[in-house]
Amino acid sequence: MDLGIKGKSALVTASSKGIGRAIAESLAEEGCKVAICSRNKEELLAAAAEIKKKFGTEPVWSVCDLNKVKDIETTVESVKKQFGGIDIMVNNCGGPEPGYFQELSDESWQDAFEQVLLSAVRFCSLVVPDMILHEWGRIINITSIAVKQPIDRLMLSNSLRNGLIGYSKTLSNEIAKYNVTVNNIAPGYTLTNRIYDLAVNRAKQMEKSHEEVLIDMAKEIPMNRLASPEEVATVCTFLASKHASYITGNTIQVDGGLNKGIY
Ligand code: NAD
Repeated sequence: MDLGIKGKSALVTASSKGIGRAIAESLAEEGCKVAICSRNKEELLAAAAEIKKKFGTEPVWSVCDLNKVKDIETTVESVKKQFGGIDIMVNNCGGPEPGYFQELSDESWQDAFEQVLLSAVRFCSLVVPDMILHEWGRIINITSIAVKQPIDRLMLSNSLRNGLIGYSKTLSNEIAKYNVTVNNIAPGYTLTNRIYDLAVNRAKQMEKSHEEVLIDMAKEIPMNRLASPEEVATVCTFLASKHASYITGNTIQVDGGLNKGIY
């Protein structure tokens, strides 16, 4: 199927590794002009070189700490300058610090708020006006299955990601008439560095090995396995496509059945 987004420009945040990186690759495979960003220049250079090797086009990259407003502004400015605009905005971020309610300081809450919610709001403020002008655009936020079913000891993620869901739904209502869609993806357990670190962290709490923790995670999932980052990425690319033109204000779970609720 031709997804109809060849030549569109896409900015994917937090994309040197993991799910963000897989999304950047999937969009590059569809012929999009892709921009990647994260905090570490060396990791970005390595990711850009590998993407060029796989798909023949080198992505634009920008060093960007999602907690810094200046970095966000510079990144958007630089991508707009090089691509002439941004048609597809994928708001991904690093996972916030784990912790039970008594373990989290005001500073942890503030950091997580800036990374998980405010960074997406800031990117949208900078890219949506042009999308409205061009009467076409796609905003896709990568959240977590925690927005449907809170995950133990992930207080910050469980709380702040639902703020982003509320923001997206409200924004989608405001801008749907301009053919700008806003959707969220809620991944379940996906095999990336993040899940590995979570498993190591949980293993310490539970006096188990991280391998045992990963096996226990898989047992919670009806599909009995974790997702690959590519399985999340292809759903994102579909939401970015011309065929997803009538889907907006939604949160799509990519979780192998992990969420046991009906909605
Ligand atoms: P990952 O750790 O593999 O990759 C995270 C990326 O974010 C990296 O490129 C890292 O450099 C970048 N990053 C981290 N902090 C940043 C910052 N302040 N500014 C800019 N870039 C930053 O993580 P992942 O597993 O790919 O997860 C991506 C998102 O999806 C996270 O928010 C995570 O919580 C969420 N998620 C992951 C899973 C999972 O099982 N992997 C499940 C549900 C939700």
